[in-house]
Amino acid sequence: MKLFEYARASHASDAVGLVAGHRGGAFIGGGTELTNLMKDGVLTPDLVVDVNGLDLSGIGISKGRLHIGATARMGDVADHPVVRERFPVLSEALLASASPQIRNRATIGGNLMQRTRCWYFRDTGSACNKRKPGSGCPAIAGQNRWHAIHGGSEHCIAVHPSDLAVALSALDATVLTLGPDGRRSLPLGDFYRLPGSAPHRETALRHGELITGVQIPQSRLAAGSRYLKLRDRASFEFALVSVAAALTRDRGVVRDVRLAFGGIATRPWRSPEAEDALRGRPLNRATIAAAGRALVEGAQPREHNAFKIELVQRALADVLEKLGGLE
Ligand code: SF4
Repeated sequence: MKLFEYARASHASDAVGLVAGHRGGAFIGGGTELTNLMKDGVLTPDLVVDVNGLDLSGIGISKGRLHIGATARMGDVADHPVVRERFPVLSEALLASASPQIRNRATIGGNLMQRTRCWYFRDTGSACNKRKPGSGCPAIAGQNRWHAIHGGSEHCIAVHPSDLAVALSALDATVLTLGPDGRRSLPLGDFYRLPGSAPHRETALRHGELITGVQIPQSRLAAGSRYLKLRDRASFEFALVSVAAALTRDRGVVRDVRLAFGGIATRPWRSPEAEDALRGRPLNRATIAAAGRALVEGAQPREHNAFKIELVQRALADVLEKLGGLE
């Protein structure tokens, strides 16, 4: 591992100032992601600023919104009674994300900043446009079983890895930040970027900008939400496909619905087309199948991942049937 300096901040503005003033600076929370990437030589910051001492670990409802601080631990959020009762999709996504040991250590902010599990990205002996811009994307013609069928470009088809981000996407969450230019609130849909020609730029964050928390509107929709994750092994693995679904119905007709997907796209993937196929219609096997077809319309499967087209439709059907009591 390359040598680096370590600093511990006690105020968010100090942490921002330290990283913003240092070209190779990075924030560290639980460290479950950053230290792995540093050990593998994928990331080589020369200053690491510890944010665990900041007052950013709160979890609670205020003014009709759930607020979760950036340094709240995944396990504490997953087990929080308000989250479990009123935002079940968040709890389910966090429980499906990682082992208990990781959940006890990893933070919400760090979870949102996870890097892709594309093996070429994590192997410094491989070319990779995301790690080394302009070097190429061996996944497109190589091993791409885990890769995206939506949102890719000729420069990158890596899948976004965070289950939590998928659940937050379905709940129309906002990411709160503090940067050198002040505070910002970024809707989750604007937070993650598509790879386009610059896959190394993954979020709307500027250098030195720190995630301070997330906010989620409280609603009937959030209370009726579920998360399903399908993966190669149930104990601990990243998603092949995942579905976050939230819906409300009046007299059997879908009044409102939010659908977000993981494991199939280069960022948490909302599907307005699939939502439109359900909204204002009865929830039954025919409308669920129509939503699934709308979801995969325009998908771009590669040599090894075409199975995701059927798998994600089956996962969507499973979640919606459970939510609708159709099993
Ligand atoms: Fe790198 Fe993206 Fe290609 Fe993977 S898919 S090798 S992360 S550029």
